[in-house]
This record gives sequence, structure tokens and C-alpha cells, in this order.
Amino acid sequence: MAKKINPNRVPVPEQKPEVRIRNVDEVVLGYDFDMAFEEANRCLQLPKPGCIKGCPVEVDIPGFIRAIQERDLPRSAKILWDKNSLPAVCGRVCPQERQCEGTCILGKKAPSVAIGKLERFVADWAREHPSESGVFDIKLPKPSGKRVAVVGSGPAGLTAAADLAKYGHKVTVFEALHEAGGVLMYGIPEFRLPKKIVKAEIDYVRSLGVEITVNSVIGRLTSVDELLKDGYSAVFLGIGAGAPMFLHISGENLNGIYSANEYLVRINLMKSYLFPEYDTPIKIGRKVAVVGGGDVAMDASRWSLRLGADEVHIIYRRSWEEMPSRLEERNHAKEEGIIFDFLTVPKQFFGDEHGWVKGIECYKTELGEPDERGRRRPVRIPGSEFTMEVDTVVSALGTVPNPLLPRSTEGLETTKWGTIAADEKTGKTSKDRVWAGGDITSGAATVISAMGAGKRAAADIDAWLRSSG
Ligand code: FAD
Ligand code: SF4
Repeated sequence: MAKKINPNRVPVPEQKPEVRIRNVDEVVLGYDFDMAFEEANRCLQLPKPGCIKGCPVEVDIPGFIRAIQERDLPRSAKILWDKNSLPAVCGRVCPQERQCEGTCILGKKAPSVAIGKLERFVADWAREHPSESGVFDIKLPKPSGKRVAVVGSGPAGLTAAADLAKYGHKVTVFEALHEAGGVLMYGIPEFRLPKKIVKAEIDYVRSLGVEITVNSVIGRLTSVDELLKDGYSAVFLGIGAGAPMFLHISGENLNGIYSANEYLVRINLMKSYLFPEYDTPIKIGRKVAVVGGGDVAMDASRWSLRLGADEVHIIYRRSWEEMPSRLEERNHAKEEGIIFDFLTVPKQFFGDEHGWVKGIECYKTELGEPDERGRRRPVRIPGSEFTMEVDTVVSALGTVPNPLLPRSTEGLETTKWGTIAADEKTGKTSKDRVWAGGDITSGAATVISAMGAGKRAAADIDAWLRSSG
């Protein structure tokens, strides 16, 4: 007899909106065992599942869920960590609706299995029960004697480093900032991804023998060529795309207008939300406007509320459907009272006599023909200009690669977008013994796509190291 499936997802406990906007604690509280067990039992365990192909690191999703169904959490954790070195991060921040859950076959007739929430549950359980889970008791292969340098400690670099260490190579990660983790540390807020979780997952990578050297900007003090001469057989570049994009409109240099990068780095990395305990302040007015529609815009707007703004607007040139941010964050932002000004584009900023922003002139758009990515283009409506008063603006338009390292590395080809040109399947660049992956090759994308690129490059580097003797 066919198994009866609960047509509804087990709801995940969350902090209530009116409570969470007054603290920085995690919004989503996660499943307990009974909830995870019930949700896992919604998985059909089909012989040809759709979910695995939706995951760029190819987690054996039916396998780890079956282990939950069989109440075998150590086996479930082992299956997860086999393919994914950062499962507690991915369970929290992957855009699951476009990845694994988007290809879940149950999703054709009912809400898909909550794969991300189950992954988070197992990863958190394993971290809280290290000896019982057994996943941190790692048996590494005989050392190959080869050294690999990884530049950048975001999800791409950490994944490449972990996999290379598991292949038996000695890995050193060079990170420009004073903390490892890339966007996981400096971009994604505490209330979505607690830093103790990121640190624990980085500790796992370190436990594989990976050395992480912070405050090391490659391309400035040391070059890629020097690393290659210095005994590293190969170099992987996972340096992200962290330079901000600007609107290039009048008034953009006024005080009180931040790039999202500066805003989020000050808050997340320099801990300005704990000022004066930490000595980096941030000035946020009563009325904040955030320009953009991605995860960065959601994060900046939700931080603004938590830091005391009374009214926060998101100004976005398309509509809800076209927004690239994770659906869960968008829904959370809406529940928290963020005001969405759709089909709206800033035209110029106005300042007061002291040079502080005090208003934005915007115009309205309507959606026209689809662009090359299939999203309908915003078309300006003549005569639709209007003005809104603001005290603070955060520009979250997207990011581009920082040109420092590509420019200082001879023989490394870049594309017209400033990304490093690399083979999509292997990460191999135009320069001998150099691989690259993550946002620096794709442009700003997602944690899991960066991890997938790190994984593919690590496999190719390993194959090359073995064949080159
Ligand atoms: P990064 O994470 O950018 O890491 C690159 C690292 O390289 C950085 O630590 C940097 O300091 C270092 N570096 C750069 N240059 C050098 C150098 N010359 N020498 C040494 N080190 C260097 N994606 C999701 O999937 N889900 C989300 O919810 C999500 N939210 C986001 C929220 C924000 C605010 C931002 C900014 C991005 C978000 N993203 C999200 C996107 C995701 O974080 C990125 O796609 C991902 O981090 C890219 O990984 P990466 O390893 O390529 O680069
Ligand atoms: Fe889904 Fe991300 Fe987990 Fe893969 S790593 S199964 S895409 S949540």
C-alpha cells in the first residue's frame, strides 16, 4: 500500500516579527527531532529522485533523509559531510526553492520536502554531539607531499581547501581580512547565520589540517607567481566579487549614503551593533531607503530596523516576482514591516546644508520585454517623478570583482565583466597551475554555487597533481 504523505510541511518555529526586530538572534529556530522526523517522512524515497541534481555539490539528499527516517542521525550526518563541508551554513542560506527543493518531485503536487531545514537540523545535531556523530573523527589519506595555496576563505575557498585536504594535499588558505569566512562572516547577518555556526564549520575545515592565514592580501604583499615559486604546486583563487556597484547619479557622495558593502562590513565584521563595546560606530537615521532587490538589500533593510530605524523602504525597479533574493528572507522582511517600493528607480539624491542626504527623487517604471536572463526589463514611465524624504540610504545594487589580484597576475585572463576566465567544469584558468571558482568567475551568485565550483576545481587540481607526479 502506498505510503500516506502529509500534504503540508512541518512548520519551522521562528521568533515572532515584533520580538525579533528588537534583537539580533537567529530568526529561524529550527526543527527538533520530532519535527525533523515527521518532515523526513514526507520524502517519497523515489528510485529516481529529482533533488540531487538541484544541489551543486550533489549531496545524497534521499540518503541523508532516509537515515533520519530510520532515526540514525550519525549516518545522516556522515552522508551530509561526505559531500558538503559547510552543511549548517547551507541548510540556513541556500536558496533551496531554486536548488534542491525546486527539483523535489513531491513539489509537483504539494510543498516540497523542507530539505534545507532537515540539513540544518542534522548539521546542528552533529555539532552539538561531536563524539556521538563521529563526523569529526576524520581519517585522512597518506599525505601526498604536495602543497596547494587557496586564496580567499569564502565558501569557494573553504570547500576547495577541505576537499584538497581530504585528497591528502597540504593546504594553506590566504585571507585578506582579519577573519576567515568571506561573505558568510562579513555579509550575511547574525540573525540569519550566527557567526558561531560559521566559525564551527571553519574549525571543521581546519581540523582536516588546513592552515588559514588571515591579514594576507595576495597581489599586494605576495603575488600568485611568488606562491607558485614558493613551493605551492597549484593555486586556487576564490577571491569573490566584493567591490560595490554604484548608481552614478547626482548626490551619491552625500553623507548618510552607504554602499551595502561598507554598511554590512561595519555592522557584521566590525560589530558596530555592539558599539561602544566595539569601537566602530554606524549612524542610521529614522527613515532608511535601501536600493536593490537581492539578499544584500534584504539584509541591509532588516539590519536597519534592528538598529533603530522607524521606517525602512526597499526601492526596487521590478516587482516581487522578479526579486532575486531568497523567498524566505523576502517573506521575513515583509513580516517585519519593511515597505517595498516596487517599479521605482532613484534619479537623484538631495542633501541639507551640512552635506547629509535628506531626500531622493525617484521615477516609476513598468515591465517591458524580457532581458537575456528572461526577467522583464523595467521601462521608465515619463513624468512619473516623485520625491521621498530619507535620512539614510544604502545602495545594494550588486557587486563586481576587485581588480587587484587579476591585474597583478601576469597571464591570468579576465572577461569583459572583470571576472577571471575559467573553465566551468574544472575551474582551470589561462595561467599554468592556477584554478579559480566562486563569485570571482561567475560574478555575484550563491554560497552553494561557489562551493560547487570549489569542489570541481579541487577534483581537477587533485587529478592534475596525481598525473604530474
Ligand atoms: P566570498 O564569500 O566573497 O569570499 C572571498 C574571500 O576572498 C573574502 O573573504 C575576501 O576577503 C577574500 N579575498 C579577496 N581578495 C583577496 C586577495 N587578494 N587575497 C586574499 N584574500 C582575498 N548567497 C546565498 O546562497 N544565500 C544567501 O542568503 C546569501 N546572502 C548574501 C548576503 C550578502 C549580504 C551578500 C554580500 C551575499 C549573499 N549571498 C548569498 C551570496 C554569497 O554569499 C556569495 O555568492 C558567496 O559568498 C561567494 O563565495 P566566494 O567564496 O566566491 O566569495
Ligand atoms: Fe539543498 Fe544547499 Fe543542501 Fe544542496 S547544500 S541539499 S542545495 S540546501
